[in-house]
Amino acid sequence: MSLLDTLGRPVRDLRISVTDRCNFRCTYCMPKEIFNREYEFLARDLLLTFEEITRIAAIFAGLGVSKVRLTGGEPLLRRDLETLVAELAGIDGIDDVTLTTNGTLLPRKAAALAAAGLDRVTVSLDSMDDEVFMAMNDVGVPVAKVLDGIEAAAAAGLSPIKINMVVKRGVNDCAAVDMARHFKGSGHILRFIEFMDVGHTNGWQMEHVVPSRELAKRIDKVFPIEPTQPNYIGEVAERWRYKDGSGEIGFISSVTKAFCRDCTRTRLSAEGSVYTCLFATRGTDLRSLLRSGASDEQISDVIANIWRTRSDNYSEVRTAETAKLRKVEMSYIGG
Ligand code: SAM
Repeated sequence: MSLLDTLGRPVRDLRISVTDRCNFRCTYCMPKEIFNREYEFLARDLLLTFEEITRIAAIFAGLGVSKVRLTGGEPLLRRDLETLVAELAGIDGIDDVTLTTNGTLLPRKAAALAAAGLDRVTVSLDSMDDEVFMAMNDVGVPVAKVLDGIEAAAAAGLSPIKINMVVKRGVNDCAAVDMARHFKGSGHILRFIEFMDVGHTNGWQMEHVVPSRELAKRIDKVFPIEPTQPNYIGEVAERWRYKDGSGEIGFISSVTKAFCRDCTRTRLSAEGSVYTCLFATRGTDLRSLLRSGASDEQISDVIANIWRTRSDNYSEVRTAETAKLRKVEMSYIGG
């Protein structure tokens, strides 16, 4: 019998954060004022080893998970990540292993990741304009560096590549049409993400959110688009296609059109805590359990119990007040 939470949702996707460190300091995710020299990132011995991650993923697979996404922080900062990819791809029941990355290390890594069994990548890119992009990543990385990464991923066959653009009003929303123009016809799928109140350090305010419906209108004026069918229930992005047949784009509207009802995702932090919501304030520690010699069956029971009692639907009940909660940071929990 399949494992369901209190709202009848099955567990299908596991997002695994392999590090809380990143080589970017995106102002909406890891603002420099907080994530600076004084910030205490996780010590190495606190991170799950690849063997521990693989063991937990296999237990999740036994409970219904079939998709795994590696994320972070910047997952490609974790050394020999392809070794983990190969282990995850070999788990019975896991049929999709993907990665979300800022793309800068893909030229070095894409071929090895593909050879290890990685299916696809999602690359984050917030503007085609160097000035805007550098101001957002806050470490001076130019657009070309990310485009090189996208090219390397395509050459390695990690397609279809999704490009994630977080849209913040007054910062990069004017870049949306340019992004559409650049990726239209490329085979890559551009997805616009509404700026979210993840964590508690990014200064989120509703005024900063550009609703997807507004963006869709702006794109449609220049490049006519129409909605199309989801690939599967629970898909986070609403799919649209260009009427001229030159590809598709997506809108992820966590703020203005919550999709909690169909959420089948769970998250494992780099230090081995499980979270059932991106906006959670607390998780459940599995690392102690692993390191105290618990059996797979015992760990599976704990996870099943977490899922069975899950009732979160944060985005459906979001208010200016909930936005101020001390939620875990996205760089820690994994995007
Ligand atoms: N470093 C990797 C990357 O850049 O893709 C993976 C981790 S990052 C936290 C995952 C995704 O979350 C990225 O696409 C990023 O743009 C997005 N993200 C981070 N903070 C966000 C926010 N406040 N609202 C919406 N998306 C956000």
